[in-house]
Amino acid sequence: MEYIKSKIRDVADFPSKGIMFRDLTTAFKDPRALHIIGWDLSQMYRDKGVTKVVGIESRGFIGGSILAFELGAGFVPARKPGKLPADTVRESYEKEYGTDTIEMHADAITPDDVVVIHDDVLATGGTMAAAYRLVKSMNPKKIYINFIVELGALNGREALPADVEVSSLIKY
Ligand code: AMP
Repeated sequence: MEYIKSKIRDVADFPSKGIMFRDLTTAFKDPRALHIIGWDLSQMYRDKGVTKVVGIESRGFIGGSILAFELGAGFVPARKPGKLPADTVRESYEKEYGTDTIEMHADAITPDDVVVIHDDVLATGGTMAAAYRLVKSMNPKKIYINFIVELGALNGREALPADVEVSSLIKY
């Protein structure tokens, strides 16, 4: 885990003043770090019968795809509005300034699915909470929530449902 941490780049004041951005692109470009991330994420879910991994646009597409591949599951994108071509369902959530929306294809998840929702970083948890509501509205058998990095100081877990298993590889 220390190896992955050593490959994450900390960028101060991005995208705005006072934010310490945990840049995972430097870990993704390192072959060993990428391999460890994929392996360690998938170990968390090996025996859970996962059938779909939902990745949140856009950094969640990277770890989410690797996780889906490793588990032999399918991959489903949760995207910004207007990007998905077929019938969609959508959820809005509060941001610091105004609201944001994410969409999924209405037929992406079925009641026999066991789902992991994945994003790279848990910050305030608003994005993941909205993704959870979307997936939940499609009534899968079970939902897990997963991150590579968790920013503990922002208490993002409190924005997520208490009865759902939330896992992350690295905590700050
Ligand atoms: P959240 O506040 O949990 O809804 O986070 C919104 C999105 O921004 C998530 O997809 C995170 O990946 C990303 N994000 C928020 N804060 C940071 C940060 N300090 N470093 C890296 N990514 C972040």
